[in-house]
Amino acid sequence: MKRYNKYIVLLIILVLLLTSCSITNKIPTLIVEDYNGIKLDGINKYEIEVELNPHNKSYSAYQKVTYVNSTGDKLEEVYFHLYPNAYKKVETAPILFNEEALSRGYVPGYIEIEEIRVGGKEARYLIGGQGDTILKVDLLSPLESGESIEIELKYEGKLPLNIDRFGYGEDVFNFGNWYPVASVFDDSGWNLDPYYSLGDPFYSDIANYDVKIKVPEDIIVASSGNIIKEIKEGGKKVYYIEGRLIRDFAWVASEDFLIMESYAGDTLVKLYALEEDEDAAKIAMDTGVKSIELFNALFGPYPYGVYSIVMTEFPTGMEYPGIVFINKEYYDEDYGEYLEQVIVHETAHQWWYGVVGNDQIDEAWLDESLATYSEVIYIHNIYGEGAGEDYYKYNCQLPYEYMIGRIETDEVIIKSLEDFKGWDEYGLLVYTKGAMFINSIKEEFGIDTVYEILKEYYSRYRFHFSTTEDFIRVCEEVTNSSFQERLNKWIYGDKEGGV
Ligand SMILES: [Zn+2]
Repeated sequence: MKRYNKYIVLLIILVLLLTSCSITNKIPTLIVEDYNGIKLDGINKYEIEVELNPHNKSYSAYQKVTYVNSTGDKLEEVYFHLYPNAYKKVETAPILFNEEALSRGYVPGYIEIEEIRVGGKEARYLIGGQGDTILKVDLLSPLESGESIEIELKYEGKLPLNIDRFGYGEDVFNFGNWYPVASVFDDSGWNLDPYYSLGDPFYSDIANYDVKIKVPEDIIVASSGNIIKEIKEGGKKVYYIEGRLIRDFAWVASEDFLIMESYAGDTLVKLYALEEDEDAAKIAMDTGVKSIELFNALFGPYPYGVYSIVMTEFPTGMEYPGIVFINKEYYDEDYGEYLEQVIVHETAHQWWYGVVGNDQIDEAWLDESLATYSEVIYIHNIYGEGAGEDYYKYNCQLPYEYMIGRIETDEVIIKSLEDFKGWDEYGLLVYTKGAMFINSIKEEFGIDTVYEILKEYYSRYRFHFSTTEDFIRVCEEVTNSSFQERLNKWIYGDKEGGV
């Protein structure tokens, strides 16, 4: 190399150093070696490049899905959910608590598909379903079972003014259920449910994700998976994120995040807060760490290298794989122990829904009652048996006894979201009565048997889906007794039912 060239190279390097800076981490994305029979290259893969435009509250994305046909049948088409379209109209928007969500008015959100290619060729597609929330992509030629195909999608999205799973508030952009996610094909065929305004109406397959998120330089991103690299370039910042064996991908962006880090075993726990409050931050972080350590020991290992707790504008708490959204107002001491309770609940969902998946539309009780009962288990283990019993009494038993005569309900826990009469009935049955069912196992067989059941259930179904039938089978095997009567009483509301 000639001398003058050398100086040019040095100058270029200097310019690059001044305009870009890269941060990488060495945290492993997966910290377990046993994937319970899943081959990492045998499941769906999402590669997404998305750019947020904070001024327009919009984003544009290119997404390549390597879709694996694991249906056992030949496929002519693949279906995706377009959840953002539920926010097109305030009437169909799945807003948790209308008054609060609408206090700043309503600006609609949506997703607009610009182009779809299948195997590199332009493809035909149809958008339909309630509120245009279902996308059907024709495959050009049939996809044999066991084969995979690349489906590329280009789209633009707009966030609604709405402090919900998907939307923006004053300080944050919440990206829950924001991209086209493949529908699940199970024994009932394609699951094409709309975005119900009740519960967590999602059901999705375990997959791998490589996501690049581009934002203006002053914005900080919290996300599912593991941020392996951040690069600053010309006023922008690009996050490179890797997610393995996760069934969804969510993120939150804000200029105002303060980040704290700690460890729970080999998992890095990150707390993203919007305001400085040492006491509240300590409660939030301690709760996250203690929950992961406890559930690791009792249920089986959290398999991921990172877990993010995000204080954001959100009505309550919401779980996504590797990340939870927690109402930033819970930092206020007026909410008392609620900050701790909600973090325990959403953290437990990493085991129940995240790793062990279930159909949250038809069997919402399965993950929700286990997450609720995990709160009891946490209190029992952290604050003592008496505290656990009190917690159960005041959060499950007494509210149930008080409410049951006061609301209209058939007492059937296991039914589709569309058959519940509203949040009151859903909450009372799916959370409270479901947890009482688990407690009835503790009362007869002892708490150690409950742990044994949960450990076996987790070990058997991690990274897969489970059903009520699967859970009951584990209960019956561990206790060596029939659960039919208990099921009829608690789950089927004393109506005829069987598993
Ligand atoms: Zn929950």
